Amino acid sequence: MEILDGKVVANVINENIKKKVSLLERRPVLAIILVGDNPASNIYVKKKREACNEVGIKSIQISLNSDISEEELLVEVDKLNQDLNIDAIMVQMPLPKHISEKVVLDAVAAKKDVECLNSSNFGKFSEYGEDSVAVSPVTAMAVMKILEVYDIEIEGKNAVVVGNSNIVGKPIAMLLTDNGATVTVCHNKTKDIAIHTRWADILVVAVGKKHLIGKGMFKKNATVIDVGINREGKKIFGDVDFEAAKEVVGAITPVPGGVGPVTVAMLMKNTFELFSKNL
Ligand code: NAP
Repeated sequence: MEILDGKVVANVINENIKKKVSLLERRPVLAIILVGDNPASNIYVKKKREACNEVGIKSIQISLNSDISEEELLVEVDKLNQDLNIDAIMVQMPLPKHISEKVVLDAVAAKKDVECLNSSNFGKFSEYGEDSVAVSPVTAMAVMKILEVYDIEIEGKNAVVVGNSNIVGKPIAMLLTDNGATVTVCHNKTKDIAIHTRWADILVVAVGKKHLIGKGMFKKNATVIDVGINREGKKIFGDVDFEAAKEVVGAITPVPGGVGPVTVAMLMKNTFELFSKNL
């Protein structure tokens, strides 16, 4: 059984960006909007800023109170849209319940939308594929990068994606389809997930439920990509029961140290891409 080590993949991407950034006269700038004080969001933003620092990208954090109104938040987004010194904008999710994530994501200027999440970019990506947009959704790209680096064949394979969110599950399913897999998507209303997962040559799980996928749910020698992050105190667990999986599967990403670091590296790559395209 092979461990698909995300840290190794992330290092290669980060080193490449670092080299390119070191040749620039001006450093690319990523602005991160953080609303409220969700502890997990604080950790994610800190990690993203550390990665920026490592590769030479300048990061700016705009921290806003959780009681900010949607209108006030839109004003903040617009300031960043207008600011010629900002190359890329990301809004850390989740937002407080009284604010529409869709409205805020759609307010981010298309050319600064570092996660490809506003409707115009995501629409192009969905309809015409990754070549039609400046940058693609980061977690989906991270999954594809891991498969590429570890030389896992996609064309002609049966892939199952558990989870169907716009940010993670949907774009992963699209990229796997575009790369020649036959894809099944499972979600909250799927009656018996195991029927599907047992059929998967490539199984990607992005739900947010600790060990949802366990014993008896894997195809022998499958490749398993565990996107889930579930925090219990200081410990982090995936959506896949690693101990159960390792007896059967051919390759698997660990949690932590799998998709997470590659997603952050993809954010660095996307920031660099937007900087280059907006010069
Ligand atoms: P989300 O928006 O809550 O979506 C969860 C998806 O899982 C939904 O499509 C939902 O189905 C489905 N689902 C819920 N319960 C299910 C069940 N019992 N069986 C099958 N499907 C079920 O979450 P997300 O933003 O996509 O994130 C998913 C996980 O990935 C989270 O743990 C998150 O922290 C993690 N994540 C990790 C990274 C990384 O870099 N590693 C990046 C982003 C997110 P419905 O559509 O029917 O509601």
